[in-house]
Order: sequence, then C-alpha cells, then structure tokens
Amino acid sequence: MDNSWDAVAVGAGPAGCVAATLFAREGLRVAVLDKAAGPPSKVCGEYLSPGCLPILERIGALRSLYETGARPLLEMRIHSPHGQILRARYPASQHGLAIPRSLLDPILLDVAIKSGAEFFANFQASELVWEGYRVVGIRGRCRGHTTVFRARLILGADGRNSVVARRLGAVQRHRWLDKLALVGYVAGARRPDAVGEIFLGRDRYCILNPISPDLTNVGLVINRREFDPRTERTRCLMQAAASLPGLGDRLGSARPIAPVRCLGPLAHHATRLTAPGALLIGDAAGFLDPFTGEGIYAALRSAELAVEAALPSLWGDSGSIPDLLAYSQSWRHEFLAKWRLCTALQHAIRHPLLAEGIVSYLARRPDLASVLMAAVGDLLPIGELTLGRLLRATRILDHQFRPGREENTKGGELIGG
Ligand SMILES: Cc1cc2nc3c(=O)[nH]c(=O)nc-3n(C[C@H](O)[C@H](O)[C@H](O)COP(=O)(O)OP(=O)(O)OC[C@H]3O[C@@H](n4cnc5c(N)ncnc54)[C@H](O)[C@@H]3O)c2cc1C
Repeated sequence: MDNSWDAVAVGAGPAGCVAATLFAREGLRVAVLDKAAGPPSKVCGEYLSPGCLPILERIGALRSLYETGARPLLEMRIHSPHGQILRARYPASQHGLAIPRSLLDPILLDVAIKSGAEFFANFQASELVWEGYRVVGIRGRCRGHTTVFRARLILGADGRNSVVARRLGAVQRHRWLDKLALVGYVAGARRPDAVGEIFLGRDRYCILNPISPDLTNVGLVINRREFDPRTERTRCLMQAAASLPGLGDRLGSARPIAPVRCLGPLAHHATRLTAPGALLIGDAAGFLDPFTGEGIYAALRSAELAVEAALPSLWGDSGSIPDLLAYSQSWRHEFLAKWRLCTALQHAIRHPLLAEGIVSYLARRPDLASVLMAAVGDLLPIGELTLGRLLRATRILDHQFRPGREENTKGGELIGG
C-alpha cells in the first residue's frame, strides 16, 4: 500500500468524516483512521443544533438521517431550580434534531467513503512523525503492527482526549469548569414529544432528549468532586435526576435500558490549533460543556473551515507546507464569541438565584429567548452582535427564515448592520 496521502484525518467522528468528505470531493487522496473497528458509540446527548442541518445538507447526509429516524426538536424547555418553565422556540421554522450517535456517525463515515476517502479501522494513533519542525505523518498500531501514514496535512479529529493535540503540546484543561457527565437511556419517561428539556438544580443539571417514541436520552452533569466512583452509575443517575425539581415525577415509571456511561472532566481547549503540517478540528480543538449542545456543530463547522483554509495549499506545489494561518483565524472568528456566551451561561447556572432570575426574565420576553436560542442553536453569528443588534434580531430572523427564503442569517444584516 502506498502510504502517502494528501490529508489524513485521525478520528472517524463527525469532524474527521466531514473533513475527509470535503477533501475527497476536491479530488485529494484522503485517509480516515480510527482506533475502533467502526465509529464507536459515544457518550452524548444526541441533540443536533439547528446550525448543523445546513452543513449536513451540504454534504448530502441530511436525507439519510431523516430516513433512519432523526426526529425534529422544535422547542427547548428550561426548568428553573424553583420550577419555573421557560419554553424557548427556535425562530420561524428552524428546528434541531434528536438522533442516536449509533446512527449519525456511521452515516457520516459512509458519506466520506462514498466521496472517495479510504477508511482504516483499528488504527490507534500514538505519535506524530516530524521532519524538522514540520509534521509529516502519524504513527500508530494497527492489528499489532506499527504503521505510519504520511501526509501533507494531518487533521487531529480524535476527540476530547486527542493524541494529536497532546503531541502538539496544545491541551489545556478549563480553569474552573470541572464537570462529569452520566448518560443513559430510559424507556417509559413522561415527556413531551419533539421537545428537549433541561432541568436545572444547584450545581447540576439534567437533559432529556426524546430520541425515539419511547426512548429518552438522559444526561446528568454534575461537579466531578460530587461523584463517588464506587456508586453504581445507573442508581446515581436516576437518584440525582429524580432530585431535580419537576423531574422526579417524570422519571417515576421510567426503566433504564442500557448501562449508564460516565465521562469527565469535560472542558478543555487547545492553546494552538495548528502546527506546520497539522491542525485540530472538532473536540480536539476544544469542548466546554453539553449544556449548550454545540459540540457536533463545532465538529462539522470546524471541518469545513479547515478544508476551506487548507485547500489552496494542498492544490499547489506538493513540496510546500500548507498555510494554515487562515484556519486559526476563521476558527476564532466562528467560535470565540459563542464560547464566551456559553461560559457566561455556565456562570449563570452555577448560581441558582441568577438562573432563576434569567429563566423568569426570558419567560416574559419570548423575543429575546428566541434570539438566545438562535445564538445557542448556531443560527446566529454572535461574534459581532451588540445589544442594539440583539434587540433587532428577532425581526431580522423572522424575515430571514420566512418559508421560501433560502439564505440564512450568516452573512446577513446582523453581521454588517
Ligand atoms: C456528556 C456529553 C453530552 C454531549 N451531548 C451533545 C449533544 O447533545 N449535542 C452536541 O452537539 N454535542 C454533544 N456533546 C459533544 C459531542 O459529543 C462532541 O463535540 C462530538 O462528538 C465531537 O466530534 P469529534 O468528531 O470532534 O470527536 P468524536 O466524536 O469524539 O470522534 C473522535 C474519534 O476519534 C477516535 N480516536 C480517538 N483517539 C484516537 C486515536 N488515538 N487513534 C485513532 N482514533 C482515535 C475515536 O474512536 C472517535 O471515533 C456531548 C459531549 C458530552 C461529553
């Protein structure tokens, strides 16, 4: 096998698969590597923000997702620590999706393979291969043998414990967010259809996502120090969830369906996104918290940005080092403001009184709640959103998303106005 590639994506999650798809469609030779035999099952809330849908449409995966059972989520309900309920809708006809990762990830890998990328399973990446100051490949073990994939560009798409990020010396844990998630499935929960729900408590929250008519994804996020690893996980999840205001009744007759899985710490970011010959996308570039549900959007969108930035160099002289500066810039432009908004929301939910006040205020201002949903749902470019623009945003959103209009708000009046 000729092991020289234009680009190699380490990790066959959403980030790696979308990057591989886009490179392959440009006629480049691309490999996708994963340590698992196929896309492994992930600990995830299984919610796709509305911002994911246009990207999935662009790569041609959206139809398959609907055909395999993706379910629209029209509304999010936030239950405050004292039981107030904020019903927040996305603007106009926009919606998110509920879809099990066991369906999403294989569909994305299938799209990448059909686009011309080659998939190598059971490859556990361990080291970057350097020539001088430049990354020229990735070394790992595949079925007991040491294997090297050489490439002009290595994409670190290997998730939250990214080997590529670690080998670049780029990983930094969050200063004060130190949380852990317990995620499982239950049948028989009392919950509305097509609605995602978040129940807030003191220093914890729980998300219900209706992924099928009877099955609900239940995700509890708590401070890591509050978790006793000796406790049986299913009991811990069900007891902690039941203690949240409004949730106990809903889960009263629910039956856990599969073993509860646990993951933490969650928040981290990369101190650098690129090195000569390598870049980080998806969770490898950073992840904050499941509360605002943008991880998959960040994976898909950062893959698009990486391909846009690297393509001109990869088309050029095969000996040249891809110029990746544009990727760092576009990543920051796309994600930094959202990251700040999500960090602010993390501060808010740490303080029950503040959370109570915000829920109460937004419940009386559905226009603002809808704008916040648009920002959190990756529909609004919040980077340049001032208060004045924020207040005008609902009208603009309604206009932009009126049925029959094609364009979305990105690049629209909100940015330039
Ligand atoms: C509790 C929890 C709930 C979440 N809920 C949501 C949600 O509801 N909505 C949402 O949008 N986001 C959610 N997220 C975030 C979301 O799961 C991630 O952001 C998303 O999976 C990132 O995609 P990725 O492609 O970057 O990485 P991943 O999906 O993690 O894929 C990385 C791939 O790399 C492979 N890999 C790892 N190491 C190696 C190695 N050394 N060699 C080879 N392969 C390797 C893995 O096997 C994996 O297939 C949640 C996260 C957590 C922790």
